[in-house]
Amino acid sequence: MTKLNEIELFLLDMDGTIYLENDLFDGSLDFINKIIKENKKYVFMTNNSSKSKTVYINKLTKMNIPCSYDNIFTSGMAMGVYLHENYPNKNVYLVGTNALKDELLSYNVNIVNDNPDIVVVGFDRELNYEKLEKACKFLCDGAIFLATNVDYVCPIENKRYIPDCGSICHMLTVATNKKPKFIGKPDPSMIYLLSEKFGIPCSKIAVIGDRVYTDIASGYNAHATTICVLSGESTMETINDSEIKPDYIFNSIKDIIDLI
Ligand SMILES: [Mg+2]
Repeated sequence: MTKLNEIELFLLDMDGTIYLENDLFDGSLDFINKIIKENKKYVFMTNNSSKSKTVYINKLTKMNIPCSYDNIFTSGMAMGVYLHENYPNKNVYLVGTNALKDELLSYNVNIVNDNPDIVVVGFDRELNYEKLEKACKFLCDGAIFLATNVDYVCPIENKRYIPDCGSICHMLTVATNKKPKFIGKPDPSMIYLLSEKFGIPCSKIAVIGDRVYTDIASGYNAHATTICVLSGESTMETINDSEIKPDYIFNSIKDIIDLI
């Protein structure tokens, strides 16, 4: 655990951490301004691979949060970097949205319709049976199985949930007996990639989020400092029940401003 004033890079979850749907939390803007004033860095890190980075940049900018390409890292972008670094020139079959396709293309990923080396699954809100059938065939033929994020569900309005990437992968796993490697939180890959990009070691990085089993676990797995805020999904009870404990717990992001 590192003292908060020694942290150089803050990796922030969005929903439940800095806003709830479209309402920015009191203190979020002051927190970001304090990071900027102290010459530290921040990146919003999300497991949602269905939307492009531009969607998030527009949403945050509308909320007056200073945000450029360098301040956003989605699990879709992480997949692009991961494929580019680990599987250059390999062919990929994608089960994902058009936004994710564009994201991967921007990292020069070869997306094909047949004979892929790799099947990549994302949070596909444009899913159809043909995609599932093809993915099953390619996995059975020996393609490598990668996926953006482990989440089974995505919360929508009125406390309802829809199937997320983890559920789509679960269907494919049941059908093929193949399990994917997930790149998003709680895997530490996204944090390692950002550590490399900014040249800041994990010992100087803090992850701030409201979900213990994704946000906090990713920081824990990367040996970064972890901060859980109680403004979203987690309660003290959830934290007490979890095997992984955050280094710091605060009611909201507002309580961290004076400590960095
Ligand atoms: Mg969250």
